Amino acid sequence: MTFERRIFNFSAGPSTVPEEVLKQAQAELLNWHGLGTSVMEISHRSKDFMAVYEEVLHDLRTLMNIPDSYEILLLQGGGIGQNAGIPMNLMALGKNGPKADFLVTGIWSEKSRQEAEKYGVAHLVASSATEQFNTIPARDSWDLSDDAAYLHYCSNETIGGVEFPDTPEVGDRLLVADISSNILSKEMDISKGAVWFGGAQKNIGPSGVTIVVVRKDLLGHSMKITPSIWDWGKQAANQSMVNTPPTFSIYMAGLGFKWLLKQGGVKVIEQRNQEKANLLYDFIDQSTLYENRVNKVYRSRMNATFFLRDESLNDAFLSQSKAAGLLALRGHKAAGGMRASIYNAMPLEGVIALVEFMRDFERRA
Ligand SMILES: *Cc1c(COP(=O)(O)O)cnc(C)c1O
Repeated sequence: MTFERRIFNFSAGPSTVPEEVLKQAQAELLNWHGLGTSVMEISHRSKDFMAVYEEVLHDLRTLMNIPDSYEILLLQGGGIGQNAGIPMNLMALGKNGPKADFLVTGIWSEKSRQEAEKYGVAHLVASSATEQFNTIPARDSWDLSDDAAYLHYCSNETIGGVEFPDTPEVGDRLLVADISSNILSKEMDISKGAVWFGGAQKNIGPSGVTIVVVRKDLLGHSMKITPSIWDWGKQAANQSMVNTPPTFSIYMAGLGFKWLLKQGGVKVIEQRNQEKANLLYDFIDQSTLYENRVNKVYRSRMNATFFLRDESLNDAFLSQSKAAGLLALRGHKAAGGMRASIYNAMPLEGVIALVEFMRDFERRA
């Protein structure tokens, strides 16, 4: 099957990028800013690239409303890399040795907990595993420890489609938030967390760059074994250039930030995201063929998971949706069923087209 641009791509990540951004990158690919070269071919330390880099930091700080007391690091290795980076940089702050608390609400937070076990005690505060990760454990059931360096949670579980409606209140404990799949999708009060991290490939642009926003007073506590590229203090002192940064991904993220600013910023995109999610969930809820199994209060606005009650129709659903130009609706293999990732760059028209297809498929089923 071959397609014309633009189909609607519901991939969980890497995922759809605004057409305007792709067109701008295409237009300036061969001759960027009249330099006679592309941006990917110049030194990361050149004044031209440093200008891009500074603007990226500035725009991100504006969009996320990041206070000056927080450092922004642009690293590599993704969220998975930070699953090791975070404990190496923070776990030593545990009162009785390296220790951190983990709230497990899905596959991603459990993965983070398991990686952290290599560096110290990774204490399970609460888990929704027995409820198939379809909900978030009640706040009064959390077994928080008094000697942990921080509490790690995943603000949006990309695989299960479970999202925290608000940042959890944890008093003066250090909160570490995995925002890989809902970064910039809604307003977040950065001052409520110690660390916010996530890759660019879901809500920003192509993969390659990982954003770590960390309170400045928490730099400099890394374990001795920490590799230099994973050491936040060293990276902060070297403008995140301890090694050669992913310059093209940073440039693309910058175009993504400009696009978002042009839309009106995070507040505006948040409303649009809510509208898209409501449209899809409202349709699913009145349907007799499709069902979403997540506790309604915790349904993700980014990754809408759903099942066909008659699973023998799964293959037909996937092949027909693809033929209709609606790509990548298969759920993660660990969860089964379907998943529509409707990040910032997915236009409302994409969700309307999806709902129309689903309605039509149900009628014919
Ligand atoms: C995608 C994702 C990750 C992993 O990101 P990588 O860039 O593959 O390392 C981690 N956490 C969450 C919630 C994710 O959605």
